Amino acid sequence: MGDRTLSGKAFINTLFELSSLVLQADNVSEVIPTLIDLSRKLVIFDNFVIYLEENGEMRPSYARAVGRGRSKEADVAWGENFIERILEDDRLIVHQDLIKGPEDDRLKTPFYIGIPLRHGKNCVGALVMIRFGGPEYSDRDRQSFQFIADHIAQLLERDVLVRTIDKIEGNQRMWKMQENFVATVSHDLRTPLGFIKGYTTTLLREDTDWDVPTFREFLGIIDDEADRLQELIDNLLDSSRLQSGTLQMNLQTLQLDVVLRDMIQRSQLRDIDVTIDLEIENQGVMVKADPTRLGQVFDNLINNASKYAPGSRVVVKLVKDEDNAIIEVIDDGPGIDGDHLEKIFQRFYRVPETRMSVRGSGLGLYICRQIILAHNGKISAKSENGNGAAFHITMPLLQDEEAE
Ligand code: ADP
Repeated sequence: MGDRTLSGKAFINTLFELSSLVLQADNVSEVIPTLIDLSRKLVIFDNFVIYLEENGEMRPSYARAVGRGRSKEADVAWGENFIERILEDDRLIVHQDLIKGPEDDRLKTPFYIGIPLRHGKNCVGALVMIRFGGPEYSDRDRQSFQFIADHIAQLLERDVLVRTIDKIEGNQRMWKMQENFVATVSHDLRTPLGFIKGYTTTLLREDTDWDVPTFREFLGIIDDEADRLQELIDNLLDSSRLQSGTLQMNLQTLQLDVVLRDMIQRSQLRDIDVTIDLEIENQGVMVKADPTRLGQVFDNLINNASKYAPGSRVVVKLVKDEDNAIIEVIDDGPGIDGDHLEKIFQRFYRVPETRMSVRGSGLGLYICRQIILAHNGKISAKSENGNGAAFHITMPLLQDEEAE
């Protein structure tokens, strides 16, 4: 093997090029191929291997065979035995193996050069190069090799740092989210609790005799706020069960048009500030669904219409196409600005403009979406600003073979 490495200025330029490649790299795997190409201009080798520690063992993590090393016999020549010596001696080692075989088979005489890769005092791996059939490594080869190894160690060290920082940032984000969660939840729980405590304390005052209407009015408020608290706690529990995937769905074969009619009748009986019209275009719409959870979705949508579009006429439409049942819940209230249409399905998201005037927790639509997703369906919102809000749900129709 003649000396095919660079000389003079070209050599220095390659050193600079390798240095700046390492300095500017953000991803180890992406730069290794270029780094190997540049290294080969500095030291001729057939095989190039970076060993890294993995679960207490050194494993070849990046390896490239070029030149003679590409041949079959050389596939195994990654210096496995040699690596133990490097780590034991903890320094640059040069070694030549003589494997018995035909004299002229250069592949049988690998020349190894290897060095530990370290982060500070810790050895994290080793760099090994192999030349088949020599020549021996010159002083310049050793220096270049040391230079390459130092740069690889630097690259690996930075990679570890970047990954550590990512992990810390991830943890910080999680802590922040948990903190926000606790703050939101405590605030939402405190509001009804504050009313209950306030009105109860007032009623219990011994210096005042409350007349019966006032007494009943205050008890009514306490009753409402206790319901709200109950609803909030149920929503919180549902949302965390949905998030962890532990909310049980009791799927049954249902005739959606019948179920929907029942649900709407029930809603209309509750004290809601909307008129509901049910438009069923197809009868006998069969789906596999949990009736209680589906009821929760429609209660929520109708309740929202009542809160955000009071006095509105709400149309609930049911149609089907070949594969899906399609349900729409449409009101003619103030609608939802385009920027918020997707966000309203996020946990705790509330449109800033309505946040102050209408009470809520921002959990309702999140729960609706999770329930619909658990039925393999989809829910989305549409609104021409100022022209009401429309919630669109699709759910797969029960296929004949699924029917019980
Ligand atoms: P909450 O009602 O407790 O705030 P939701 O998740 O049910 O939580 O709704 C999220 C937000 O979506 C609401 O705060 C409201 O701003 C908006 N929204 C929901 N339904 C409607 C509607 N029918 N019309 C206008 N805005 C709505």
